[in-house]
Amino acid sequence: MPKIIIDAAHCKGCRLCVAFCPKGAIVMSSGFNDRGLNPAQVIDQSVCSGCLNCTVMCPDAAITIIPDDK
Ligand code: SF4
Ligand code: SF4
Repeated sequence: MPKIIIDAAHCKGCRLCVAFCPKGAIVMSSGFNDRGLNPAQVIDQSVCSGCLNCTVMCPDAAITIIPDDK
């Protein structure tokens, strides 16, 4: 399965990735990053289809999807 990597330090908590992930793989964290912002986090890696919606929507390029190389 693809691997989702969210760079919490660069996330500004806009929630776009949560809104546009069709699989519900990303949620907002209950914590805060060093800038005092509430970052996104992966909640279920296993459901990711690798569609890249989240990376396209993220205004801060804080998400990387590593494709399944099978
Ligand atoms: S690649 Fe697609 S399915 Fe995977 S986390 Fe991003 S939006 Fe969701
Ligand atoms: S779209 Fe990017 S900046 Fe916005 S919450 Fe998701 S990871 Fe953070």
